[in-house]
Amino acid sequence: MSDSNTPTENLVRRTPWPETISRAVVTPLQPSVVYASPSPDRLDDQYEGRAKGYTYAREGHPNADVLAQKIDMMEGVSGGIITSSGMSAVSAVLLGLLQSGDHVVAADQLYGRSMRMLTQDMPRFGVTATLADPTNVAAMRKAVTPATKMILVEVVSNPTLRIADMQGIAALAQEIGALLVVDNTFTTPRAYRPFEHGADVVVHSVTKLLAGHSDVTLGYAVARDPALQKKIYDTSVTFGFTASPFDCWLAERGLYSFNLRFDRAQENARALADHLATLPNVKRVLYPTRQDHPDHNRATAILGEYGSNMVSFEIEGGRAAANAMTLAAPNIAFAPTLGDIGTTLSHPASSSHRALTPEARAALGMSEGFFRVSVGVEDIRVLIDEFTTAIHAAAQVN
Ligand SMILES: *Cc1c(COP(=O)(O)O)cnc(C)c1O
Repeated sequence: MSDSNTPTENLVRRTPWPETISRAVVTPLQPSVVYASPSPDRLDDQYEGRAKGYTYAREGHPNADVLAQKIDMMEGVSGGIITSSGMSAVSAVLLGLLQSGDHVVAADQLYGRSMRMLTQDMPRFGVTATLADPTNVAAMRKAVTPATKMILVEVVSNPTLRIADMQGIAALAQEIGALLVVDNTFTTPRAYRPFEHGADVVVHSVTKLLAGHSDVTLGYAVARDPALQKKIYDTSVTFGFTASPFDCWLAERGLYSFNLRFDRAQENARALADHLATLPNVKRVLYPTRQDHPDHNRATAILGEYGSNMVSFEIEGGRAAANAMTLAAPNIAFAPTLGDIGTTLSHPASSSHRALTPEARAALGMSEGFFRVSVGVEDIRVLIDEFTTAIHAAAQVN
């Protein structure tokens, strides 16, 4: 046994952070789960909002707050929270703001898991939903019942990139006294700021364009009304939708370059769409602000010159042509995600929409030759070369 003064005795106690007159330029990463307070009185001050302090990371931590404040600024709001994923943000909003007996009108081409939550999970808690076409406000209106408390939409649908009638839907929500919730993941506040157009709540999958590097899974949720935001926050803390400090730190790092990434990706997307439309075995190209897009006028009115970074297209031929195309483009990640700094390619028939029958997919305009591209920030000449080569390879199969 050593005596009580061995040099290692205090290893178990945390060494104080060095006193310094300089400050770190980079946001510090704070993984602490617990925070020590000076005294019960000071802890009272924290809990009663008389002093700012943290207690337990599930209730909040500095890296989440720094990230949330940045996204708040982008959306022109305050008080948003970071959650562990886009789906936990959607969950916090639905579970926090609805109760048994309530009804939701939702867009019929929402993100797959959001649709599943509304049609399969929320009904177990007494909340029902009707899905309707958000490009047609009359169809949305028809879905309304006396119990409708919420309308949930995405501005740009996946993967056919249809544009919701945001103006008509906001007017409908106001008329019937329902909350308008906008999942702004595809558009981002760079292209569309929902609170300026009547939204009550905004959610994001931060995983996608905002973080931008496919290395974190995070979400964001905010209501304009602080009383509603308190409900979303409390639900998130109770259900445990807390985000990891490291993920928040990475996402905040990603945001520094967000404007540059998004602007470049939009320019690339527009140029790639225009190029794809010139290739002989491309049957159609979908880019919201192109003249030949079914919602061109609305897209231009809502989004301006660019229609975000997503492009969809359909090539001639079936599965064999689709296989030949991805195999001939080995540098473009064939992966069902979006918003990465690099271009990624997805194939709804084998991924997001594989549960549908071929007939149901055809009705939605998604054949075996249908692809969705999340365009990145590469040199556009490289992208055009790679897609041209890949699409020619697909043509050889036909
Ligand atoms: C990816 C996505 C989600 C879900 O986000 P996760 O971070 O994967 O949980 C929700 N909505 C949209 C529009 C998405 O693209």
